This record gives sequence, structure tokens and C-alpha cells, in this order.
Amino acid sequence: MTTRASPDTTATLANLIDGRLQAPREGRYLDVFEPATGAVFARCPDSGASDVEAAVCAASHAAPMWAATPAEERARLISRLADLVEADLEAFAQLESRDSGKPVALARTLDIPRAVANLRFFAAAITQWASEAHAMDGRALNYTLRQPLGVVACISPWNLPLYLFTWKIAPALAAGNAVVAKPSEVTPCTAARLGELAIEAGFPHGVLNIVQGSGAGVGQALVEHARVKAISFTGSTRTGAAIAASAAPRFKKLSLELGGKNPAIVFADADLSDANLDTIVRSGFANQGEICLCGSRLLVERSIYETFKTRYLERVRALRVGDPREATSDLGALVSKAHYDKVVACIERARAEGGRVLCGGTPVQLEGRCANGWFVAPTVIEGLSNASETNQEEIFGPVVTLIPFDDEADALALANGTGYGLAASLWTRDLDRAHRCAAALEFGIVWINCWLLRDLRTPFGGVKHSGVGREGGVEALRFFTEPKNVCLRLS
Ligand code: NAD
Repeated sequence: MTTRASPDTTATLANLIDGRLQAPREGRYLDVFEPATGAVFARCPDSGASDVEAAVCAASHAAPMWAATPAEERARLISRLADLVEADLEAFAQLESRDSGKPVALARTLDIPRAVANLRFFAAAITQWASEAHAMDGRALNYTLRQPLGVVACISPWNLPLYLFTWKIAPALAAGNAVVAKPSEVTPCTAARLGELAIEAGFPHGVLNIVQGSGAGVGQALVEHARVKAISFTGSTRTGAAIAASAAPRFKKLSLELGGKNPAIVFADADLSDANLDTIVRSGFANQGEICLCGSRLLVERSIYETFKTRYLERVRALRVGDPREATSDLGALVSKAHYDKVVACIERARAEGGRVLCGGTPVQLEGRCANGWFVAPTVIEGLSNASETNQEEIFGPVVTLIPFDDEADALALANGTGYGLAASLWTRDLDRAHRCAAALEFGIVWINCWLLRDLRTPFGGVKHSGVGREGGVEALRFFTEPKNVCLRLS
């Protein structure tokens, strides 16, 4: 079994359970499509409850040993895994691009380097993590033991497959937990390859298990499993709600990173240099708009609306949709036929709601190898109220709406006027205003004059329907441990 598919063969992926690559026990597989061509290029285990049971058993067996392993040794193995991924970076980037439809250049510069950075960051973080102590007036000393939870589940989505997979497993493993991880069945390939490298890195059996399959099969079985103590989930708000409902009676620890409908706010005094304008364009269309942090509602101060629109559209029209393998492609294919259909339907709905499509608005028909791929033109729409369905529901594709605003209060009301609260960006030269708005924006992340600038030490996550809990830095290590207060009386 291998994940190294040549152009003419179909790779068969395996699960990683108890340190060994294993076929799904019930022998069922799912087709894995190449979005750029619409063709099947791999088969992914459609695992069932018996595979989950085997993985949880292996993890339960390994958990006490892994928890007792010195942090330095856990860090060494995680760093070793990072080295192996980095050594294979180009192959990983090709595989990620093929599996998800994203431009290979993006996988090469963002997804895979960030996956390596995630592993390295948490390997280092665990060796630097100190616990708190509180002295009680010479009468007692309290200290906090941060103990691993045991078996934890990590469930990740398709948009940044290896990047978000490692964002979860790295802190979980570093903190001393045994992991059962489930990548998205839509993009299972790089996680499967990572599993092979975990064997090579020398992780003890059962410490990292990767069970491939559907949400309704593997995902649900994991969430419901009595020995899974915590679930770190990134995905849609709808699935997050289902997981929360199912986990509640079992009192599982939950971290939910969910959808968004993020605003980018451009004030009239913003520095709209070419570089900043490029960033604003990127914030809407990077990865075909399939990043939870993309700004899909572009709020622009009315006094500059028309001039901004002209310059913005010029740039969006220049974006090239093409074969993800080509260095010239700014946007690749949407991840699946189902998602492509959804995005096209959302654009139709926007039209039906009275939106004016200023550019794009249609699928893109490519020639040759990509003739059957799922491509959509970068689309900009204006004329819709903030209350419209298009401005309230997550589309998660290359679709941005333009909305004018009158003043700061109006901008904040529009920005906050959504059920979601993941990320906002704002563009202004007025420092007072920048800090005022940052405090007033109901979002977990606020970028001022930038976008997607990430420091892995910072808390990451959303409010409202964008999720519960935070990842990143010590927040992730806190999530994956249970704090225990120990009080020692001093006589
Ligand atoms: P999804 O919710 O359909 O699936 C995410 C993962 O959950 C997949 O692995 C899936 O198999 C699994 N799953 C599905 N049903 C399940 C169930 N009942 N129980 C357990 N697991 C289940 O999401 P998606 O379509 O893969 O990803 C896109 C969504 O993810 C978007 O809404 C996007 O905004 C969100 N997202 C959020 C963040 C963030 O950090 N907040 C980051 C990336 C993506």
C-alpha cells in the first residue's frame, strides 16, 4: 500500500493503527478525486466502527507509556517527523495539490511548510512549558499538574489538509496524549503519507493512529467512543453542532473551530498601496476562497467605494484560474463536485437576491487535462444588503461581496452583523480607530493592515457560530491536558 500514485495508477491508502498500516476491516473504500480533472486517483479506506475500536484500543494501551515518556523524547520524535516531512516537501506539495485542487505553489509555500512548522513549534513548546505555583502566605503551596487526557480524537477538514491535521496532532502528542486522528475523506492523501513517516520516525505503536473514512462512519464512532476523552474538531458549523450534541451527555472536552463569514473593512484613510491591495485581493481568493479566514464580505467606506472598486476589480480580473500544477495559476479547482455545485448555486442565489455580478460569476471551462475539472471564476458581487442570505451564509469559495459603509459605527454594525465570529481584517492609518475597532469587533482574530499573518504562539479560534475554544500556543497545550491543583500544607 502506498500513497505515491503515479499518473496512471490508483493508489490505495491505508489506516495507521497500532504502528502498522492496515486495510479497513470491512474492506470498503471511497474514491478520491483529483479536482482539477474530475478523475479518481486514489482509494481511501471507508473505515467502520471496528477500525475505530482497534485504533482506540491501541491508543488506550499506548497512552500511559506515552504520558510517562519524558517531554524531551516526545519532542524528539515529533521533530523527527517534521524533518521527514520537510525532506519530502515537494512530493507532499504535489500530493496535496492533486488531492485538493489547490495550486501546487500554494501547497509548496503555505500548506506543507506550515505543517512542518506546526510539528516543530509544539515539539519545542512542550519542552518550555512551565506549570503555575501559588504560595499561600507561608501556610501552603499550591501547584498545578497538567496531565495528559489519555486518548484524544483529532478531526480535520479538507481545505488545508496537512496543515490543519498537524495543527491538532502536534500539540496533542506533545502534551502526552495518544491520538486517533481522522482526516477529511475528501483529502486523505497527505495524512496517509504522514502516517507512513510516523512509522519511520519511530513513534511507539499506538501513540498515533490515523483512521480514514467518512464523517458519518469514523467521525461519529470516534465522537461517541467512551474512551475518547476529548475531541479537537475543525470543520463546518453544522457538523460542529452535531458533535457538540453528541459529546454533551458524555462530558467530553471539546475544541470546535468552525465556519466564518469574515469581513474585511477598508476605511477611506487606508494605505491602499499596490501591495496592500494585493493582500486584500488575496484575503478573498487565496486557495479559491476555501480558507476559513478568507474575507468574503468586503466593507468599503462610501467616499472611496467607486475608486476602490475599480482598482480592486482590475486585480481580481487579472487572477488566473488554471491547472493547479502550473506555476502561473493563482486559483486552482474547487475541492469536490459537491462543493463546486454548492458554490455555483450560491452565485445563482446571489443573482436571484438582486446581486450584481461585477466579475466572474461562472464556472471556468479549461482545456486538455483539466477539461472536466471543477473550476469557478473569482467572483465579485455588489448590491446586496448585509442581511441577504449571500452575506449571512458561508460560501467557502471564490466569491466576495462589496458593501459600502458610511462611518465607523456603520462599519462595525455591518461587520458584527453576522452569526459568525472567526476573523476580521481592517485597513486604516488611524491608530486610535484601529484599536477601537479591534476591541469592538466580535471576532476571535482581528488583523490590522494585514491578513493571515500568523504567530503560532497566539490564540486561534472564533466566537459565536465560529466555534468554542482556542488552538495555538499554550491554549492548545491547555486543551490537551487536565489541570490538577495540588495543595501542600506547610507546617
Ligand atoms: P465538515 O464539517 O463537513 O467535515 C470536517 C470533518 O468532520 C471531516 O473530517 C468530516 O469527515 C468530519 N465529520 C463530518 N461529519 C461528522 C460527524 N457527524 N462526526 C464527526 N466527524 C464528522 O467540514 P468540511 O466541509 O470538511 O470543511 C469546511 C468547513 O470547515 C468550512 O465550514 C470551514 O469554514 C471550516 N473550517 C474552519 C476552520 C477554523 O479554523 N475555524 C478552518 C478550516 C475550515
